Amino acid sequence: MTVLVTGGAGYIGSHTVVQLIAQGSQVVVLDNLCNSNPEVFNRIEDIIGVQPTFVEGDIRDRECLDSIFSTYSIDSVIHFAGLKAVGESSQIPLNYYQNNVHGTLVLCEAMAAADVKKLIFSSSATVYGEDAPVPYEETMPRGKTSNPYGTSKAMVEQILTDLCKSDPEWSVTLLRYFNPIGAHPSGCIGEDPKGIPNNLMPFISQVAVGKRKELSIFGNDYPTTDGTCERDYLHVMDLADGHVSALSALEYNGVHIYNLGTGNGLSVLAMVNSFMDVTGVDVPYSFADRRDGDLPAFWADASKAEKELGWSATRTLDQMMEDTWRWQSNNPNGYDG
Ligand code: NAD
Ligand code: UDP
Repeated sequence: MTVLVTGGAGYIGSHTVVQLIAQGSQVVVLDNLCNSNPEVFNRIEDIIGVQPTFVEGDIRDRECLDSIFSTYSIDSVIHFAGLKAVGESSQIPLNYYQNNVHGTLVLCEAMAAADVKKLIFSSSATVYGEDAPVPYEETMPRGKTSNPYGTSKAMVEQILTDLCKSDPEWSVTLLRYFNPIGAHPSGCIGEDPKGIPNNLMPFISQVAVGKRKELSIFGNDYPTTDGTCERDYLHVMDLADGHVSALSALEYNGVHIYNLGTGNGLSVLAMVNSFMDVTGVDVPYSFADRRDGDLPAFWADASKAEKELGWSATRTLDQMMEDTWRWQSNNPNGYDG
């Protein structure tokens, strides 16, 4: 079976590529490297002994897609490619809609032309919106999104739903990720944000390795256990395995939606303390103002994926911390060394 993985050089994509190859799939990666480094392919080879086929190109380039579908015998597509920085999306919304929405349209058109109609899409818990009660369940309607990034995910979900309604041959799985963290246990691949990290774990690990002075914790007056925000953090290897499970289930037509999370919320302070306990490395922090757009607390009801895909997150919080630290301390400057 050959899977086209768009965005396969990125954080979640690269871990998924390792797990796909490990379970016997052939993989073709399409990535324009706008947020990744081709060194990742050497690292994948260090882990699994082979590199995936790599095409450097853009999902918005129809000719490039047509050439991939005519060259390789692709059965299905896992679509990670897109822009993901929430704050930036409010500054350059057109880039976000261009990449995430228009890019997906071009991809689907090329897939339809090549008669490849199995797709897994990287969606996000953000589509539940600002007012959904926790835990989030897949049966809840999509809510009001608060930034162009979230809106782009909600728009793509709707587009793919309409596509499946129009043509019953399509089989589309929308995976709503919660907060992936951690790295491959080898320490060879991991999250390598460009510039100042937006997300919590890369920020914590960059403080720990001495690249940044201290962590700002955004808000300590939320209505939560310790006043800091709560999220559902899951190991990126569990998330990667979730894609492998979802791929096996793609034989069923129509749209299928799954939350991929652990089902537990943890506070920012709990995460910082856990990192320090597990690694023994100090992470200086101070409290700062709330960050615009942050919700106090959300986590998944993860039971549907367990029932229907046989998937659940099995790696522990300690493993998430150990693996984050192994990656960061072995590669203080990410893939640049
Ligand atoms: P990432 O930035 O590490 O990976 C995305 C990859 O897509 C990068 O390698 C980038 O170079 C590539 N890319 C971007 N635009 C492209 C284009 N037009 N054509 C070809 N390649 C392109 O991000 P990630 O964390 O691995 O996220 C993967 C997907 O999961 C994204 O769609 C993201 O929105 C979604 N997601 C991520 C999170 C998270 O916390 N990381 C949470 C929910 C959803
Ligand atoms: N966070 C923080 N300091 C940082 C980065 C994040 O306190 O430097 C908090 C943020 O306010 C949120 C949580 O950590 O409550 C998770 O943030 P992240 O950006 O990783 O994920 P998301 O906002 O997508 O849930």
